[in-house]
Amino acid sequence: MSRLAVDGGAPVRTRPFPTVLDPAGRTFGAEERAAVLEVLDGAVLNSSAGGPWLGDLEATMAGLHGVPHAVASSSGTAALHLAVAGIDPEPGDEIVTTPLTDFGTIAAILAQNAVPVFADVDPLTGNLDPASVEACLSPRTRAILVVHLFGAAAPVVELRALADRAGVALIEDCAQAYLARPAPGAPPVGTYGAAGCFSLQQYKHVTAGDGGLCLTGDAALAERMRLFADKAWPRDQGRFHQFLALNYRMTNLTAAVAAVQLRRLPDVVRRRRRLAARLLAAAGDLPGVHLPERADLHAWWVLPLVVDGGNRRWAEALTAEGVPAHAGWLQSPVYLYPALAERRTYGTSGFPLTSPPARRDWTYRRGLCPVAERLIDDTLVVLPWNENYTDADVDDIATALVKVTAGG
Ligand SMILES: *Cc1c(COP(=O)(O)O)cnc(C)c1O
Repeated sequence: MSRLAVDGGAPVRTRPFPTVLDPAGRTFGAEERAAVLEVLDGAVLNSSAGGPWLGDLEATMAGLHGVPHAVASSSGTAALHLAVAGIDPEPGDEIVTTPLTDFGTIAAILAQNAVPVFADVDPLTGNLDPASVEACLSPRTRAILVVHLFGAAAPVVELRALADRAGVALIEDCAQAYLARPAPGAPPVGTYGAAGCFSLQQYKHVTAGDGGLCLTGDAALAERMRLFADKAWPRDQGRFHQFLALNYRMTNLTAAVAAVQLRRLPDVVRRRRRLAARLLAAAGDLPGVHLPERADLHAWWVLPLVVDGGNRRWAEALTAEGVPAHAGWLQSPVYLYPALAERRTYGTSGFPLTSPPARRDWTYRRGLCPVAERLIDDTLVVLPWNENYTDADVDDIATALVKVTAGG
């Protein structure tokens, strides 16, 4: 085997790959351009003032998932806040969630004065472990907020059953997992909980820069989420505000781009899966490297590898081969961020993480979720993935994986 690039050997690859930050790694075309110009030429940029695109986007999203209602908002974080506000927890109520997620998941809980309770994860997928979730339930639990990490469906059927038994809501954070399925022939993620939340931010499968979408089968919840995104102003009834709510409206410019992008989504996911199948065929059973098992259920937001250990060395070695890789994905589990570890919430109050309104003072420390910590510190390596990779791009990634496995 040739010497690793990290040790001075020749790299597998010197050309850069397409990324979500460059036109070659995105799917914008003439249709997005025309849609934006149509909105500008019509002069109505605010979606509550009229225009077809918001309704088009919501109908397309609902139709893609076979769900009656979709509600647009200004970001994935906003979509999650809509869902949490939609179930209307009491201050200090608990929402069980994962420490491996974007901070938006947690901000949505804290912003509605609920307490995030962190369950541990599966050591191979990083998705919530139902047994750990069950151990976190208490009489104050109001919801389970599951994240479908990296594009792999979390065990939502089990979590839904658990939530139903406990009499709490299930909310899905699908920001990384558009059209992922937990099993062949099963409905896509976002359709298992009371609400499924999606993001249209720059780094997701399809994008309008920023934007959010919530799916629900519950008409009353859809109406409450819709109101929450518009200051709880029932515009068809009068100028009054029904409850405390924010302005999370999506603009028509965003809706126009998002509606066109969403039509491309099935093809984006199909292409990511085809390329992943090629990668799995070439490098799917390397010793000591765990990859997602099936190409066809995963949404392939990224390519996650779980190695036996030494993830930093792995990421350095792959990056030196010309295949950018990141150790651990996050710098730490979300509960070690200052916002939580130092309870930087509202002034110096620590609200709602203190008793009252919480049933106890919540402290978040290293050691809380050992499996998640080990993934970040030692075993998880994340590679970007893109629907515009060529077969040759994927072959270079496979070659680098094989080389680093043999030399590492
Ligand atoms: C991106 C992301 C979010 C937040 O979405 P924004 O649109 O950036 O607010 C939330 N959860 C997960 C899992 C994400 O990947």
